[in-house]
Amino acid sequence: LVQNGDLIRIGQITLKFIQGAAEGAYHEELYRLVTLDPLTQAYNRRHFEQELAREHSRSVRYGRKFSLILFDFDHFKEINDQFGHLAGDAVLKEAAAQIRERLRRDDILARVGGEEFAILCPESDLDGACHLASDLGELIRKLRVIYEGLTIQATISLGVAEWSGEDETPDALYQRADRLLYEAKERGRDRYCR
Ligand code: GH3
Ligand code: MG
Ligand code: MG
Repeated sequence: LVQNGDLIRIGQITLKFIQGAAEGAYHEELYRLVTLDPLTQAYNRRHFEQELAREHSRSVRYGRKFSLILFDFDHFKEINDQFGHLAGDAVLKEAAAQIRERLRRDDILARVGGEEFAILCPESDLDGACHLASDLGELIRKLRVIYEGLTIQATISLGVAEWSGEDETPDALYQRADRLLYEAKERGRDRYCR
């Protein structure tokens, strides 16, 4: 009987028998490296764009709805200036971890820029996505990140948009959410606009 790790010689060739899991774990690790942002473990921008396109097609085909939330940290430059860039990184990492806890399994959290994130919410309408946006704003407002003994607080501004139907391309939806995010900034930050 062949066991895990056994070498099998066939003429000049030596084969090593490795039980299933090893290759699976290798592919899983590769997939993580290609799709995840190393700092926050959120999905990267490229993977997000693929998922957005996929969700869009799925919704066209099956007549489903979905929503998109974009958010950006408020005055993040000041956080970096006051506490240092590494402290800023710690805020992004902790915030992403907390936000992931609040999301549904099918929601896709991605880091789409330095301190800018997107959440794709399959099967969510505008009210549902706004409920989530409001919760996330509160979550970050209440979050205290301790870095080298210092306590850091942050807020985010969010733009929330529900896909408006077949005529709206993924890009157009993204731009609409981005304008709403900008509006939230204009209106005083630490809020969402819909
Ligand atoms: P607001 O968005 O509220 O308008 O102000 P802001 O200061 O956040 O806006 P701005 O987009 O001008 O600056 C973003 C800052 O975020 C500048 C950049 O140094 C910082 N930043 C971007 N990516 C990272 C990162 O990965 N780590 C840290 N620590 N800082 C980052
Ligand atoms: Mg910002
Ligand atoms: Mg920004």
